[in-house]
Amino acid sequence: MKNGLHIGFFLAIGLLLGCQQKTTEYIMTVRGPIPASEMGITLSHEHILVDFIGADSTGYHRWNKEEVAHKVLPFLTEIQEYEVSTLVECTPAYLGRDPWLLMALAEQTGMHLVTNTGYYGAHNNLFVPAQFHQMSAEEVSKIWVEEFENGIEGSGVRPGFIKIAVDGDSILSEAHLKIITAAALTHQQTGMVIASHTGPDAPAFAQISVLQSHGIDPSCFIWVHAQSGTLEGNIKAAQLGTWISLDNINLNLEPGSAYDVEWYATRIAAMKEAGFLHRVLISHDAGWYKPEEEDGGEFRGFTGIFTGLVPALLSHEFSKEEIDLLLVENPRKAFSLRLPV
Ligand SMILES: [Zn+2]
Repeated sequence: MKNGLHIGFFLAIGLLLGCQQKTTEYIMTVRGPIPASEMGITLSHEHILVDFIGADSTGYHRWNKEEVAHKVLPFLTEIQEYEVSTLVECTPAYLGRDPWLLMALAEQTGMHLVTNTGYYGAHNNLFVPAQFHQMSAEEVSKIWVEEFENGIEGSGVRPGFIKIAVDGDSILSEAHLKIITAAALTHQQTGMVIASHTGPDAPAFAQISVLQSHGIDPSCFIWVHAQSGTLEGNIKAAQLGTWISLDNINLNLEPGSAYDVEWYATRIAAMKEAGFLHRVLISHDAGWYKPEEEDGGEFRGFTGIFTGLVPALLSHEFSKEEIDLLLVENPRKAFSLRLPV
């Protein structure tokens, strides 16, 4: 494990200091585990690169790592000015995940970057590898656990969470049931949180039920794109302990249009009113370098939360502590590994 500090080290320190919980909480970054307390201000759902060509055609031949790093670097240094220290990169395998690129960017910026394992089933399985369809959930999980234990494709980079995706249908397809089941099995062996591109209420609750049937607490599940769910659904899931990820804050949208910054501020204020601010994650779902476009195409930066949403929340009478809860404490709890392995 390249540059990795073994968790046994943290456990030993924890025991020596007589601490119980805090010292055993850690986050797996692309440069190895860090104590969760070092995570700081965190963007919990962003992208460096996404390649939408499909699992059968994507690969590292599709981009030049140095060119991508050159293009992306200014957008990372820009958020460092807002004291962001951790960025969770949500691009899954077969969609442009590149552990070497993330490692290079982490080293160049000093930021904590977090990558993932898992398959992205949305878009009717265009981004899952062909062999997936012949595999059992146990076999799929084995691949993901192997990545956690030994690193991704020989890079030494270990994933810090499980990223999956299902379509927004009201029931899970057989393939997507297999994906969430594989995520459940992987979670049980690694302690990684499961972040699932989900959207509406129905597939969110369908996945939570699958996890519960495996004895997994809903607090180990992040409902990604929960803004596409109803407020009632968000509250009901939060009551169960689920993380509610409101993650497409985009200042390019016209004020007054659906999902503008005021919409987000209002939804977050409603979650606070219901007593569930401690279950909410916020992010931009922004970026990203597009291999099929000239110089990677237009890149949406990661600053809208700081320049647009935070001021909107302040005008909804949020305190500094409540904003820290959204940007520091909630991501720290959501992404802390549940098993001291
Ligand atoms: Zn995304």
